[in-house]
Amino acid sequence: MNYDELNKQVLLSTFERNPLFFVAGIYIHIPFCKQACHYCDFHFSTNTQRIDEMASALIREIDLQRHYLSDKKIETIYFGGGTPSMLSAGHLESLLHKIDQLHTVSADTEITLEANPDDLSLAKLIDFKKIGINRLSIGVQTFDDGILKFLNRSHDSQAATNAIENAQRTGFDNISIDLIFAIPDQSQKALTRDLELLKKISPNHISTYSLTIAEKTAFGNWLSKGKMKPASEAENARQFELIMGNLTSFGYEHYEISNFAKPKKYSRHNTSYWKQLPYLGIGPSAHSYNLNTRQHNVSNNALYLREIGNGNVPAEVETLTKENKINEFVFTSLRTMWGCDLNKLQNLYDHNFEGTHTTYLHQIVGQGLVELSDNKILRLTNKGKLVADQIAMEFMI
Ligand code: SF4
Repeated sequence: MNYDELNKQVLLSTFERNPLFFVAGIYIHIPFCKQACHYCDFHFSTNTQRIDEMASALIREIDLQRHYLSDKKIETIYFGGGTPSMLSAGHLESLLHKIDQLHTVSADTEITLEANPDDLSLAKLIDFKKIGINRLSIGVQTFDDGILKFLNRSHDSQAATNAIENAQRTGFDNISIDLIFAIPDQSQKALTRDLELLKKISPNHISTYSLTIAEKTAFGNWLSKGKMKPASEAENARQFELIMGNLTSFGYEHYEISNFAKPKKYSRHNTSYWKQLPYLGIGPSAHSYNLNTRQHNVSNNALYLREIGNGNVPAEVETLTKENKINEFVFTSLRTMWGCDLNKLQNLYDHNFEGTHTTYLHQIVGQGLVELSDNKILRLTNKGKLVADQIAMEFMI
């Protein structure tokens, strides 16, 4: 059987077993921020002069890309960035309206808005709720004012607490909070205080990220000049163990390496990425995936606006090879609590995982880094989660 035939069979057999395969998500990137956090390498601009023009261009792109997902039903919409909460409710409503016009949108669609605490006034939250936003992902990062300042965040801890209280008062019951750890000189005590506050707030969902220092950021610059020392690997691991231990004892499921949720309160949008469901990405730097290709929009606001104005989607398209698909399947599924299903790998891609990785697999099972169940599901142990990326790299083909 050649690869195209195999692919066709995969699609058919997957649909028979799982109609969810024919649902999809839409991601919309809002490329503006009030100020640049010292660690951030996402695409954004602090020049907000063209924000109205950008909102119109995003609507135009939704139109231009209306066939990308074929007739798949939209189950999740995610406004990410950048800082989507800088947009007015009116802009967001126009974007949702356009999606509704061109796609079949499920009645219980999860609609997430990433928000910075200093944008979440009561009045703005009431408007966000009215237009259908039903999930907030709030960029708290830490409740420590000294650390917030060091990171160059635009809010302080009081703004974070107010934002969460306002959101709860407005009736947002599906809230996710971002937490950063492994910040240079961050003590275990400071992190424990953040975790205790999160226990009190009790959001449905918590995303945790260890601070990585990217080259083209203020921190990257400081690091290259020797003005900054990152947390050591050992400190990073200690803090992650503290997070895992605390959040699971508070009743959260550690359902993906960086993500914790109250039972079944997973991010449906991100889970669909990890389960290789298709999605459309709108906006500068957004990515799209339709099972066979990945598409990357240009990461430049001016170029994006110009091309969309000319009726073109400024994107590079990468056709995924069988090896790409196997690697992505392993890399993403291994990070989740559902694990990497080796039988599925065999059925979908004709890939004998155990045969290809016999020695390494045997070694890391012996070291207690992964567990292989009788029904051939490979899962990371807590010890393995500390070295997840290294393990995934070894499994790349
Ligand atoms: S608010 Fe978010 S996207 Fe904007 S600079 Fe800070 S971390 Fe980056």
